[in-house]
Formats: sequence, structure tokens, C-alpha cells
Amino acid sequence: MRSCRNITSLISQGLDKKLGLGERLTVRVHLMMCSRCRNFKTQSQFIRKTAQTYTQHIQDLAKRKS
Ligand SMILES: [Zn+2]
Repeated sequence: MRSCRNITSLISQGLDKKLGLGERLTVRVHLMMCSRCRNFKTQSQFIRKTAQTYTQHIQDLAKRKS
């Protein structure tokens, strides 16, 4: 079984690019057993989404000004 450090690293990578089938499967199996990594995934996705929304908002404001 992979370590949590390994899994969280894969989860972070997965936010930026699509993971391979093996990697996704590894993460999924680990998440079924590990609530700490589940929390990490939820939080990373939340932060990522918030950051995207914020960036979009700033861009919209910049567009409106010009
Ligand atoms: Zn874990």
C-alpha cells in the first residue's frame, strides 16, 4: 500500500493534469480506507475551485474596466 504522502502528491498532481489509470485506481483505493487523504482531497478541490472563481472574478473586473 502506498503511503499517504504518496497519495496526497498524486491528488495534487491530479488537480493539474489527468492521472493515469493506475494512479487514479491507487488513489481511489487508498481514499476508501483513509479519511485523512479524503479530507485532503476535499480541501484541495475546494481551494482550487475558490482560487479559480477568484481569478475569474478579477478577470471579469479587468474586462469591464477596459
Ligand atoms: Zn492516506
